Amino acid sequence: MRTVHVNTGNPYDIFIERGITGDCGKYIKKLSSAKKVTVITDSNVAKLYLQKVVNSLEKEGFEVKSHIFSAGEESKNLNSISAMYNTLAEFRMTRKDIIVALGGGVTGDMAGFAAASYLRGINFVQIPTSLLAQVDSSVGGKTGVDLPHGKNLVGAFHQPIAVLIDPDTLKTLPDAYFCDGMAEVIKYGCIKDEKFFDRLCKEDARKHIEDVIETCVSIKRDVVSRDERESGERMLLNFGHTLGHAIEKIYNFKGISHGMAVAVGMVLISAAGERAGITQKGTTEKITRLCLKYGLPVSDNASLEQMAQAAAGDKKTEGSSINLVLLKSIGDSFTRKIELCDLLDFIK
Ligand code: MG
Repeated sequence: MRTVHVNTGNPYDIFIERGITGDCGKYIKKLSSAKKVTVITDSNVAKLYLQKVVNSLEKEGFEVKSHIFSAGEESKNLNSISAMYNTLAEFRMTRKDIIVALGGGVTGDMAGFAAASYLRGINFVQIPTSLLAQVDSSVGGKTGVDLPHGKNLVGAFHQPIAVLIDPDTLKTLPDAYFCDGMAEVIKYGCIKDEKFFDRLCKEDARKHIEDVIETCVSIKRDVVSRDERESGERMLLNFGHTLGHAIEKIYNFKGISHGMAVAVGMVLISAAGERAGITQKGTTEKITRLCLKYGLPVSDNASLEQMAQAAAGDKKTEGSSINLVLLKSIGDSFTRKIELCDLLDFIK
């Protein structure tokens, strides 16, 4: 087993082990004096792992309730949260009890937000089952939901008391979802770790997936523990995301996954950095090759004008400017504030 300790306001551990899903009860028992556990999951993941998790929790003496919502980003809204509150209240969950978020990014974000807000905050445990959630979204304490006005506009910072990562769950993950997660994996190499990036180029990530997960969560841990609330260094995790989010928005979040959009975003912003003489020549070529290796797109039909316009509406804009994440070279990243009116010129 591999353990990564996260030293945020409320410190916690990330456990990486094959088969940990079926043993989750033991881990949660060690961490908490809860009597009740509500497992929140979506309709796809419920079919695969819910029974295993419930059995493991009941074996440890917990009283368990399940809450299943229909799978997909369309569910990530306040109505779903409201339904979760009903389940929690009817089950008479107290502040001592625990929510388990079992599933991908949407589940973690929503179950985490329900945990952050129900009774002004109760404990929760993440059991991420997608690569994207395992390497990225389950760590760091960001929770929330979408509004009709945009993604993740309502939320809270709320750290889990543990993250249990079971690499075996990736076996049931369709290829497209694996690729989706690989974009964030590549991102970690780009912003912080050239050696890791090179290893992704030379080897097949699937064959050393535990190392991949451990490296990514360790990088995220380091960044988040220095900047829990995204006032500085944490922004580096948004590499490729300014234009990535813009692309997702242009397509109304349909037909293009987050990872696909981020891959295009990383390539475009790196190319812009090269043209501006900021990013070492050849960097874009390297990122492009690695994205293609893992089945990710490196260009998109949307125009740069459309992207610049969509980026202007991003929640991460600060007045008339936006913080762009740029690379000096692979593994060496920094942020630069740029006026929104200059964004198009910069990426063109
Ligand atoms: Mg992301």
